[in-house]
Amino acid sequence: MNATGAADSFVIPHDIHALPIVGSAAKFPVRRIYCVGRNYVDHIREMKEADERDPPFFFQKPADALVMDGETVFYPPVTSDYHHEIELVVALGRGGRAVDVKSARDLIFGYAVGIDMTRRDRQREARERGLPWEIGKSFDQSAPCGPIYPVAQVGHIEKGSITLAVNGKERQRGDIAQLIWSVSEIIANLSRQYELHAGDLIFAGTPAGVGPVRPGDRMEGAVEGLGTLCISVAGQPD
Ligand code: MN
Repeated sequence: MNATGAADSFVIPHDIHALPIVGSAAKFPVRRIYCVGRNYVDHIREMKEADERDPPFFFQKPADALVMDGETVFYPPVTSDYHHEIELVVALGRGGRAVDVKSARDLIFGYAVGIDMTRRDRQREARERGLPWEIGKSFDQSAPCGPIYPVAQVGHIEKGSITLAVNGKERQRGDIAQLIWSVSEIIANLSRQYELHAGDLIFAGTPAGVGPVRPGDRMEGAVEGLGTLCISVAGQPD
């Protein structure tokens, strides 16, 4: 793969999935999208899940599920309970294996605002029946993500509000300081399961207040210091 996208000889068109970087003309090429399954106590309680001290678990979304700020998501098929989960996104500029918590920060290139869009009915069904999570989490357009704010500009995000409003009405509010597993702990844990690489994104989990959206709705997510992410919802295309 050629990170500039100016590549030469693929037999079919090949997109490089990339996010804009605030203050730069260059883009951030996305390799993998990892997501933390649960990371705020109040959301675990609203989902009626087991032990709040359970270790973090991870799932992935495909890189082509990214949706940019200002774009529209189409209401997905096979759900009637399409939910928003506002999340802090961590963008890695370096990789590593079995990284320790103390040096985990060295891997971080920057941060962004993301929404882990979820087919809640399919996720619950998968959980109850012991089936894979992909249908509930890893579908088309399931990873809206705003521009990357480099650490060099904004420092590390350890506290500050995280919110999501639908049609101007607040649905979710938390604080990054409430993360059960800190960003460094998440990176350290994840790097024991997978070799991490530059270009990987990590969605760090959602606070309470998840809920459904319908065609015609407009979501506005925000993390203090990282601007906003505005996404509209439209009906299924013909
Ligand atoms: Mn989530």
